[in-house]
Amino acid sequence: MRIESAEVVVTSPGRNFVTLRLTTDDGLVGLGDGTLNGRELAVASYLRDHVAPLLVGRDAHRIEDTWQLLHRGAYWRRGPVTMTAIAAVDVALWDLKAKAAGMPLYQLLGGASRNGLLAYGHASGRDTEELFDSIRHHLDEGFRAIRVQISIPGVGSVYGVSSVRAAGERADHYEPAVRAGLSIEEGWDTRAYLRHVPTVFEAVRSEFGAELPLLHDGHHRMTPIQAARLGRDLEPYDLFWLEDCTPTEDQEALRLVRQHTVTPLAIGEVLSSVWDYQTLLRERLVDFVRSSVTHTGGITGLRRLLNLAALHGARSGMHGATDISPVGMAAALHLGLAIHNFGIQEYMPHPDVTGAVFRTSFAFANGLLHPGDEVGLGVDLDVSAADRFPYEPAYLPVARLADGTVHDW
Ligand SMILES: [Mg+2]
Repeated sequence: MRIESAEVVVTSPGRNFVTLRLTTDDGLVGLGDGTLNGRELAVASYLRDHVAPLLVGRDAHRIEDTWQLLHRGAYWRRGPVTMTAIAAVDVALWDLKAKAAGMPLYQLLGGASRNGLLAYGHASGRDTEELFDSIRHHLDEGFRAIRVQISIPGVGSVYGVSSVRAAGERADHYEPAVRAGLSIEEGWDTRAYLRHVPTVFEAVRSEFGAELPLLHDGHHRMTPIQAARLGRDLEPYDLFWLEDCTPTEDQEALRLVRQHTVTPLAIGEVLSSVWDYQTLLRERLVDFVRSSVTHTGGITGLRRLLNLAALHGARSGMHGATDISPVGMAAALHLGLAIHNFGIQEYMPHPDVTGAVFRTSFAFANGLLHPGDEVGLGVDLDVSAADRFPYEPAYLPVARLADGTVHDW
């Protein structure tokens, strides 16, 4: 099974996606997601200019060897651009191998370990009334676990809550990347946030009861002592997890948080390899690993990380916002179905227009996602439809404190 062509497709049906499309000499097509939010064209160039020439003529069955070639052979290691590019190749090769084997990818990865993957949705609002409506809407859509984000009084628009809304759009419609040539700027006040968030969770628990799994994302904005306080203040509301409470690159920061709270912790969506997690996992500082297939070197890279996590009692909680393309989401679902230490899957459905380019076979019902039983990933890319949606610059916002200091977003 020789690779005959390696084509990079950049398309923007609703948001920007980068897809690697490999074609073999026996006519099979394999797809891999190379989408890196706000830095899409860097990965597209990495793949087109530096990786595609290495792939043409190679045996598509040699997945581990290709992974090691791209990882060790580039000399420069880790980092989001490199690991996202490697992921695109790796997932496309797994798609091809499963198609050649005539089975859905999860079967090739060891078969199903569960009936479906518990998914959580994003509820948000500018106040508790909007937030409650959003939670009810998500429950009506079938979600059985909910991430709760809310505006902070006096701070204006914040992450997780829509700041730019088209007329007639749902109040909690939220696409983090805003289409514009430059990032928009938002304000931030951690002390106001720390005062407000526990009152919101108290209100949500009294309205929706004790059973519903609730999650919250701190977006890397707290110091360790602030995060320790929030974790402790949220203990009465029994969170499924508190996510990204401190800047992720400082692994030791979670030691202090752990000393003060039993609220479960999730972190890692901005990390890109197993080597970024050694302290976090070895010292059992984290309960859930947020890395995605797309940003962590693919199935091969993330499976290596999740095996280390399993050794230290941590479970998966793969990043699954809209910047994970339908190809990347399908890969996440096949891997999540097969591994034993699955925890929960983030799920922000793409807008309907995305379906004009990507046809998927995964399904969501009764709170659970399932990748479907088509061979391979179960995703098709319509290349001519993709051409109708050219790349448009779009960026995540940046946050500034009241005095103008840049803060974490
Ligand atoms: Mg996060």
